[in-house]
Amino acid sequence: MEQKNKIRKAAKKAADILYPVRCPLCGQIPWGKDPHGRTCDRCAAGLVYTGENYCMKCGRPISSEREEYCRDCLRRRHSFDRCRAVFSYQGAVRISLYRFKYANKREYASYYSEEIWRYLGEWITGLGVDVILPVPIHPKRRRQRGYNQAEVLARALSSLSGLPADMKSLARVRNTVPQKQLTAAERASNLKGAFRVSGKNLKGMRVLLVDDIYTTGATADAAAKTLKESGVKAVYVVCVAIGG
Ligand SMILES: [Zn+2]
Ligand SMILES: [Zn+2]
Repeated sequence: MEQKNKIRKAAKKAADILYPVRCPLCGQIPWGKDPHGRTCDRCAAGLVYTGENYCMKCGRPISSEREEYCRDCLRRRHSFDRCRAVFSYQGAVRISLYRFKYANKREYASYYSEEIWRYLGEWITGLGVDVILPVPIHPKRRRQRGYNQAEVLARALSSLSGLPADMKSLARVRNTVPQKQLTAAERASNLKGAFRVSGKNLKGMRVLLVDDIYTTGATADAAAKTLKESGVKAVYVVCVAIGG
């Protein structure tokens, strides 16, 4: 047994040399005392968490303690119930999330899901969520990229939380123009009819939608609207990062 452990440890050491654990934010090999400390010290120092003062609807950080909602949520009704995010979408997180989505860095999901669970696990537990759903992308886009980053996140969060994940019931049925090229109003109409719920698995459920980035909330709203129209009781959203 001891011999086995020794062999396992030696193999792990060799693997670390061949495939060193890289910082999920800058991609560098973090030199330091703890090679498994996830982010390098420099990136860790630059992380901006959403903090204590955030919008009660979308989770965006707000400057005043006295305000309950951000300017955006005071103006616009959302279809989802509540949203929370871990980081403010800036600096190293912004660059890292780009790689996570487009540069095949799906291994970053373990870091991001652990941060979601560490930072928001208590909130998620308190919601009484029945099932985790990734925000789906169109099958055509999924084929191009090879994966859906939200799905990778949802799977990792499911194993951390013990909550089941449903990858099938919510689908993207329209391949839309990338949202970042559009204004807020255009984003909403761009997403009309973009999602579809199949089967009856989600009826009466409280779902947690998982995505990487929240900007205007148009995607979360469109998905939540479709979910609620098909009988979902509550839609909560959790994202890695939220725009300012
Ligand atoms: Zn780093
Ligand atoms: Zn808000």
